[in-house]
Amino acid sequence: MHELSIMESVLNMVRESAKQRNIERVNKLKLVIGKLSMVLPDSLQFCFQVLSQDDMFRGTVLEIESREAKVKCAACQEEFMINEGYCFICLDCGSTEIEIVSGREMYLDYYEGDTN
Ligand SMILES: [Zn+2]
Repeated sequence: MHELSIMESVLNMVRESAKQRNIERVNKLKLVIGKLSMVLPDSLQFCFQVLSQDDMFRGTVLEIESREAKVKCAACQEEFMINEGYCFICLDCGSTEIEIVSGREMYLDYYEGDTN
């Protein structure tokens, strides 16, 4: 379950940053997770519950935005979304020269909290 180590490093990062900004308690944090990142939002939520037991994160709301995967055909420049089952064949011309435009991202969008 690599979601646990991902969540751990996210929380460490926020904790460090919050300290520098004199934030005592984080109210909300938001992550953006691309559908091709192989990270499961439900797992992240679960790991977050497990890891967020200290004062800084007690009661923090974790919002996860799941971002659709978008690819582009190198042959005809057509862009399209892929949903279930990663089909890397152009729906338009049948080319297999597909580039991933988005969907692999995984980052902390923002967090907010109360200063002391
Ligand atoms: Zn194409």
